[in-house]
This record gives sequence, structure tokens and C-alpha cells, in this order.
Amino acid sequence: MLKNKKIILITIIAVILLTLTGCSNKEEKIPQADDSAFLMDTLVQMRAHGENAEKAVEASMERIRELENLMSKTIETSDIYKLNNSPEMKIDINQESMKVLKKAVNYAEQTDGNFDPTIGALVELWGIGTKNPEVPSESEIKRALSNTGYQYLKLYDSSAEITRPGVKVDLGGIAKGFAAEEVKKVVENYGIEHAFVNLGGNVLVIGDKVDGTPWKIGIQDPRKDRGNVMAIVDAVDKTIVTSGNYERYFEKDGKIYHHIIDPKTGYPAENNLLSVSIISENSFDADALSTAVYVMGLKKGMKFIENMEDVNVMIITEDLDVYISSGLKDIVEIKDSDFNLIEGENFAD
Ligand code: AMP
Ligand code: MG
Repeated sequence: MLKNKKIILITIIAVILLTLTGCSNKEEKIPQADDSAFLMDTLVQMRAHGENAEKAVEASMERIRELENLMSKTIETSDIYKLNNSPEMKIDINQESMKVLKKAVNYAEQTDGNFDPTIGALVELWGIGTKNPEVPSESEIKRALSNTGYQYLKLYDSSAEITRPGVKVDLGGIAKGFAAEEVKKVVENYGIEHAFVNLGGNVLVIGDKVDGTPWKIGIQDPRKDRGNVMAIVDAVDKTIVTSGNYERYFEKDGKIYHHIIDPKTGYPAENNLLSVSIISENSFDADALSTAVYVMGLKKGMKFIENMEDVNVMIITEDLDVYISSGLKDIVEIKDSDFNLIEGENFAD
């Protein structure tokens, strides 16, 4: 009886060893964990490879949930809700939200207000992404515009204040990038060397793929349903963040009204762009930049990015012209011949 058991055990071990040595591919040995959830108003998808993959993915999702609870405009206990609903009062702000607020104001200053975290009044007025979006009247736009401007947001060490009632902070253009960087910290703490997270078009890859080749990140075809890609970018330890007019919009009388608002006009930014993708190393910055460049438009945006180090951009216009900054030549591959790649255009004055 005992002997039989021993034989069975030895056979099982032998089979396991055979399967292990049988897979020459490293990929099959390393545990993999995948998960997806609806967080921060978007679909979050994640994958990690490594001994602690399962735990790392779980902890990452939990981290994103924590950040949502701090920075959501609608969760009543969040820093941003409290700030927005208690104007002319200094409100205690958690260090994490403070980092995002500070970076947001910094980008507002650098982009001449094209990126503006006090866009909230206009975002609420347009209601894009809600059930009943409407084209507002001129006077409504004027009023919301008067309640827009980062000069009305004062930041201190651990508190903040909105100095004009009616001004509302909205971190929708930057918080997902911060979350992606936090996910990176979480997975690295678990010793993970290969992972990616995608927060609704905000992609961050950690390391390369298990087989040692780069991750292949698809750039969404702005004309088609989610998942249809028009280009592939090879990525190792990189982020690819896309802002597009197709993400959230409504149509009225044949016109598209999308969710990226020009803080100077109060209307969705109108500059014949379909999407802007930033390719760089830091998702936090890339998120703010993709939104900012979308508002700036082709010429100004391209110039702005070409002046930055280690940051690249791909801009798709309504004519399906694809403009890429100089650092992208060798890592982007256009997959769809409807698009015309335009390289080396000089955007200097
Ligand atoms: P993204 O998808 O990262 O480009 O962010 C778009 C979101 O950012 C919108 O849904 C708004 O919540 C917010 N937003 C819209 N316009 C602006 C702007 N000009 N500056 C900063 N945030 C904006
Ligand atoms: Mg953004």
C-alpha cells in the first residue's frame, strides 16, 4: 500500500518535472495575474508576472481605489469634494492629493492655462459623459468661465483653499497618471519585474515582457470602437497616455462636443485633432501633458513637447495625418494605411 503511494508520488513528481523542463519558454513558468475593475470613472485593466503577481495586482487595485476616494469630485468624503464645497475656507488636504494639486497647478502655469485643474465649473455645465449633456447657452458659458482660473486655487503645505465661490477643481486630466505611477510603486514593492496597467487609455508598462521582448502597446484608432488600434508602439518601462475626442462626447446637430475643454473659450477644444498620445517615462506628467497638448493644438503642442527632454508625442488630426515627435521614429509602427505618417515637420517659429 505504502509502496504504491510512493510510486504514485514519484510518478507525479516526474510528470511535474517533465512539464517544467518541457517548457523551454520562461513565460510558462512565471505566475501571471490579471484583473480589471471600474475605478476612477474608467475601466482599469492590469496584468503582472512574478511570484507575487496575484497579491501585487490585488494591492494595486486597492491603491487605485484609495486614490479615487481622495480625489473624486463626487465622493463626499474626498479632499476634492470638501475643497469644492467649502469655498473661502482652508481645507486640510492629504499629501497624495496635494502632490496632484501641486503638479496640476504647475502645469497650468507652464501651459499658459491650457491645462487648468479649475475646469470643474465648465465640466459640470457641459455634463459630457453624463446622461443628459446639453449645449449650454452663451451666458451660462460666460458664468462658468468666470468661475475658471487656477489663480483662484491657493495651495499651502497641507491645506488648500478656493478663493472664489463657484470655482471647482477637477483632477480628471491628471489623477489617472498619478495612480499609474502609484501602481508602479506597489508592484515593484512586490518584486514584480513585468507588468502593465491601463487606466482607460492611460497605459504604463513595467519592465519588458516575460520573454524579454518589448510590450506592444496599441494606439486606439480614434474613429473606431475601443480595442481597434491604428499603430503599435514598442515599450519597455514606458507610459503611453492618450487624450482623445472620442473618449467622452455627445453629438448635437451633427457636431461633436467632447470632454476636453478649452479654458479660454469654455467650449470643447476645437483644433481639428482626434487624439494626442504622450510617450514618456512618467505617467503622472504624461497625463497632464496629453490633455494640455490636446488643448494647445498641433503647432503649439508639438513645439512644447519638442522642448522637453525624454517626452514624445503622436498627434492625429481629423485628416488622419499622424505627426510624431523626433524620438518616435523607430518605435512606432502605423498599422492602417488610412493614416499618413508625417515626420520631421518643423514646428519652430
Ligand atoms: P484626459 O482624458 O486625461 O485628457 O482628461 C480629460 C478630463 O480632464 C476631462 O474629462 C475633465 O475632467 C478634465 N479636463 C477637461 N478639460 C481640461 C483642461 N483644459 N485642463 C485640465 N483638465 C481638463
Ligand atoms: Mg490627461
